Amino acid sequence: TTPAAPVEHMKWWGWGVPGVAFHHEDKPEFAPFVKNAVGLDLHAAQPLEQPDFGALDVPASIAPDALREALARAVGEGNVRDDDLDRVVHTYGKSLRDLVRVRAGDLPRVPDLVVYPADEDGVQRVVDAAVAADAVLIPFGGGSNIAGSLQPDTAETRPIVSVDLGRLDRVLDIDEAAGLARIQAGALGPAIEAQLNPRGWTIGHFPDSFTHSTLGGWVATRSSGMQSDKYGDIADITRGLRVARPGGMLEVRAVPSASTGPSVREMVLGSEGRLGVITEATVQVHRIPAKRVIHAYFFPNWKAGSAAMQAIAASDVHPSVTRVSDARETGFSLATSKERRGFSALAQKGLFTVLRKRGWDLDQLCLSFIGYEGEPSTVAEQRKAVERIVKAHGGIGVGTGPGVLYDQKKFDTPYLRDFLLDRGAGGDVSETAAPWSRIDGLHDGVIAAAEDAYRRIGRKGWIMCHLSHSYHSGACLYFTFAFVFGDDPIAEYDTVKSAVQQAFIDLGGVPSHHHGIGVEHAQWLPDAISGQGVAVIEGLFAATDPGRHLNPAKIT
Ligand code: FAD
Repeated sequence: TTPAAPVEHMKWWGWGVPGVAFHHEDKPEFAPFVKNAVGLDLHAAQPLEQPDFGALDVPASIAPDALREALARAVGEGNVRDDDLDRVVHTYGKSLRDLVRVRAGDLPRVPDLVVYPADEDGVQRVVDAAVAADAVLIPFGGGSNIAGSLQPDTAETRPIVSVDLGRLDRVLDIDEAAGLARIQAGALGPAIEAQLNPRGWTIGHFPDSFTHSTLGGWVATRSSGMQSDKYGDIADITRGLRVARPGGMLEVRAVPSASTGPSVREMVLGSEGRLGVITEATVQVHRIPAKRVIHAYFFPNWKAGSAAMQAIAASDVHPSVTRVSDARETGFSLATSKERRGFSALAQKGLFTVLRKRGWDLDQLCLSFIGYEGEPSTVAEQRKAVERIVKAHGGIGVGTGPGVLYDQKKFDTPYLRDFLLDRGAGGDVSETAAPWSRIDGLHDGVIAAAEDAYRRIGRKGWIMCHLSHSYHSGACLYFTFAFVFGDDPIAEYDTVKSAVQQAFIDLGGVPSHHHGIGVEHAQWLPDAISGQGVAVIEGLFAATDPGRHLNPAKIT
């Protein structure tokens, strides 16, 4: 038997850890909702067996012995691996396309070796050894990306080395006066908080993939977390960087702001491994707030909800979360709630009766979450000011109950995709950002484009949306879509995903707000930054990596 890898990974065929899965037996509204949304009868559907790794045909490693030996000298024999499981785990991220491919054994090109350096010097030795041997390097954080940022180029004939950062998982130092922490790039979200929290600090970055994504991955994809309205996106949080490049370290000093020409810090942000391996980032950290609470609100329709979020962004209050779901996603949220009993069931029924009497069409109901953090007095003041805005837009407060539930289940929701895949259906997400002036048109236009795509592929499909991050000038819209597969899941997925992405571009958005470009979104990059913009990026990669050793064929 092969010894276990030095780092634990997610399931090779799906999300998260073994033994955890989505269940609907305790959610009575879920099966009828799914039947209505995509036509899938969960009571009749027979789930597939768990995929069998032994059935995969994994291409043999083409790593020459000399490369293997050089890497073993760099990181130690046991930290250079070529077993099939480890290589497959490092082949893809977790997009729907990735999961369909890996489950089907569609593995045209797999990393030939996986290395686990223990520290920054080890990373530098790996980079230099691999480049000297004319091998390709693909940095690996948690493997959670959904933009195709990890997959090896199928045309690559040189050996491919996946550099797993998982052993670089420590908070190295906290500058308490500056509120800056030096953290190794391979640290997963929970490991970062577990080291910061006992000392009274938090990074405040909580993407839905928090449990299985790393600081280096966040930086390399320009990630955004749920509390970004207060703490900023990772691009704001990251101040200093250390990147192992062929021949030496790139170092960006951590300062609050700098006038040092075009920003190299910004070049590394979103670079998806194409500029080198990030070994460490110095990030802003904050004192853990004395109080943190999420309140839920209902709005009579999407327009009222999005206008309220815009008004909050334009006001003097700064909640940590401003989120509003459209009517479809609100229906989904209500359907994934556990069965309500007793007072809670009565309260919801009573509330809905009151809303109906007020003339609300409950099919248009939009659920919103607003998060507040800080001293109790600040939280109270902020809440009061926000609730004035909510009221002015026709919304009403429904307390903290739904927010607590949302907080508890947000890291479990990703398991739903495996549940659907096991039953012949697929779901994925696409997100964008646009100015406030385009938000409502974008919302309606993307839904119309997806519905048209479903008509073209002849499938009954579902799409829903929430506004997830607010800024001075606009917001992020996050769409989730799902349908039961026909004969060609990947072609059907391409039709729907492309329609959604194209609508982003046509209606004033960008290809991605926080998932990066990878290969999945590359065709729309010129629309966002122009051909000249793409030429600048291509020039940067060509000049700094002339041998195309660093995760080639991503972004451009
Ligand atoms: P990986 O997937 O391992 O790598 C991603 C890219 O970064 C690759 O190109 C890789 O080569 C490069 N990379 C990784 N580490 C380094 C390094 N040390 N140096 C250089 N390059 C490196 N994203 C969000 O922003 N917000 C969300 O709320 C969110 N929710 C998600 C929910 C689900 C269910 C899923 C599947 C994904 C979600 N994502 C989200 C997307 C994903 O989690 C992010 O893209 C994340 O930043 C990827 O981090 P990772 O450590 O998993 O990187």
